[in-house]
Amino acid sequence: MTVTLITGANKGIGFETARQLLELGHVVYIGARDTGRGERAAETLGARFVPLDVTDDTSVTDALATIAAAGGLDVLVHNAGILAADTLDGPTALRAFDTNAAGIVRVTEAALPLLRESANPTVVTVSSSMGSFWAVTNPDRPESTMPLALYAASKAAATMLTVQYAKAHPAIKFNAVEPGTTATDMTAAFGIGRPPQESAAVVVRLATLPADGPTGTLQDESGTLPF
Ligand code: NAP
Repeated sequence: MTVTLITGANKGIGFETARQLLELGHVVYIGARDTGRGERAAETLGARFVPLDVTDDTSVTDALATIAAAGGLDVLVHNAGILAADTLDGPTALRAFDTNAAGIVRVTEAALPLLRESANPTVVTVSSSMGSFWAVTNPDRPESTMPLALYAASKAAATMLTVQYAKAHPAIKFNAVEPGTTATDMTAAFGIGRPPQESAAVVVRLATLPADGPTGTLQDESGTLPF
């Protein structure tokens, strides 16, 4: 039995990732900061709900304590994220980095003792190619023309955290993923993106790697992406 926690899984790519991993037989915890939204999502899918706000230390440690008490954790998907594109100022920057980067540290640190007990421990960070220096400086890539400073910088941090955790914990796989431009609430204002089911499949591939699978990579649906 593979036990998986997905942060920010009450909607969008996280919700669809939960659906697909449940179909593969995982026990899935929907982490959500809003109890009503989280419980509804878990009930819809037949998943478990755990209250989890990635910006709140107590919420994170309580969530992982609940999962520990129920038996353990094999797969962690850092999916919670915000675009933070409304304003470019200090408070918005702190919010972007708190959710998209510091949240990864909080949840990873709380999950590590459980992951160390797993036979195939796997961590997936739903990052973004907007956080790739290669993509944003490549005139042939759409990322090079998108002014999303806080999102891009915080996703660069998310990818770097993933690489650093991979180096520090060689027995655990840590990979970052660009899921593909997806029509979710995050992108609704731009009217772009493919169905979340298609992008969730990219996340699922990395969440179901074999024990000898790659670690410390950034990938999209075509394979490894340059950092
Ligand atoms: P979404 O529909 O807006 O979903 C974001 C999820 O994150 C929601 O469940 C949201 O919960 C949750 N969240 C936000 N802050 C949180 C917090 N502090 N604690 C816990 N959960 C929190 O967006 P999405 O497109 O599915 O995004 C999922 C991930 O994919 C994000 O990391 C995003 O950066 C990444 N991504 C998306 C695209 C794209 O094209 N959509 C492309 C590349 C990467 P609430 O419902 O409570 O707000």
